[in-house]
Amino acid sequence: MRPWIRVSIVAAALCAVALGSFFGARAMRRSSHASVLPSVAEDANETAGITPEPAKTDAAASATAPSSATTRDGLPVIYVTVASHSEDTFNAGTPNFQTDKASFDAQRAELLAFARMLAAHGVKYDWQSDWNFLNGVLAFDRGTTDTDGKNVVRYLSEDLGDEIDPHSHENAGYNYADVAYLIKQLGVEPSRVVGGFIAAPASGSQVAYFSALSHGLKYPAYAWSPQILWGGGTGLHQNEEDVWISGVWRPKSAEQYDTDDPSAPLADVGHYKSDWEGLDELLALQIGGKLEAGKIYTVSLMSVQNDFSAAYTKAFGERLDAYADETASGRLFWATITETYRAWTETYGSVPSVLRWNGLTTTSEPGPMPNSEWSASSASKASGVPAKGSSGASSPNGTPRGSCGDGVCEKIERALCPQDCS
Ligand SMILES: [Zn+2]
Repeated sequence: MRPWIRVSIVAAALCAVALGSFFGARAMRRSSHASVLPSVAEDANETAGITPEPAKTDAAASATAPSSATTRDGLPVIYVTVASHSEDTFNAGTPNFQTDKASFDAQRAELLAFARMLAAHGVKYDWQSDWNFLNGVLAFDRGTTDTDGKNVVRYLSEDLGDEIDPHSHENAGYNYADVAYLIKQLGVEPSRVVGGFIAAPASGSQVAYFSALSHGLKYPAYAWSPQILWGGGTGLHQNEEDVWISGVWRPKSAEQYDTDDPSAPLADVGHYKSDWEGLDELLALQIGGKLEAGKIYTVSLMSVQNDFSAAYTKAFGERLDAYADETASGRLFWATITETYRAWTETYGSVPSVLRWNGLTTTSEPGPMPNSEWSASSASKASGVPAKGSSGASSPNGTPRGSCGDGVCEKIERALCPQDCS
């Protein structure tokens, strides 16, 4: 992995993570957002000392029963989640969907296309949004014919079986519970997944914060407490890989984030390296007999909603097609975050599983898969979806767009080419 790739991924993590109140300077938030990428996600959910409840209210959670087997063909199953973030107005380049109807309508259409593409592949989707787009839905979305007259969030939840998670940088007076409240106002029960949080360094950890969160700030009468931490990143752009974890466990503390404590209030569903490379790495370990039977393995594929376009969705779908065999065999199980959590409690007996990305590869040697080099191809960077099993020398659709390194920041490169777009 070339250095710039690493940098961009870290920056992406920050986006999802850099929640306002913890790094007060808005300038820092802005700068972190300026280089947001389509590849990281975090979530945090916590119940303040409350015993986690089954996520029975989540439409997505009840839509599909998790795999009842922990192995397929004698190999431990890998749970894969597709997730995306929609950001607030403090994120440079994100339209104000609350007032800009044209931008809202355009992105709504792209979101629908992406979500339908996933559904057509049998892939579940954790859609995660901050208050900006949600307020846009409240303002403008009365439903359309192609959504059965439902707003887009209801359609994703009810018609496509997707999970709707709050994602919040806790700007403008909204905390996570307030964002959950907005989802509720749209007619959808929000999940109890936290769509982004700081896990490290310990001094900035939000684990304790989410363990205590119970109500909104803007809507203080609304009660919402997290149940599942998802992902986790760093706030200082350093040692991010230390929190790229595959598995499910209960973080013991800020200092011992990757240590399981059965008495801890929140579970964490790890996002691992939340892109195709992370998925391929896990598959390589799986086929190589390196995964441990009886333990759950997880990885997320993270996108940024602002990047959705016809080309992005097409390339993403073609990339998914490359996993048809693994999916058909059951070696890959596509699930929402809450479904993954439930599988962990119901099928795996809540046996903690913590597999760190750091322990698998070094920066001086190639990974176990030949296609783990995003940087090899401008085409791959253009779509964000490098071809599986290839060197990345050609894009999934064979039509490279954008050329990183030429000093021109094309829109398609925004998230993936810091040297052109910084
Ligand atoms: Zn974010």
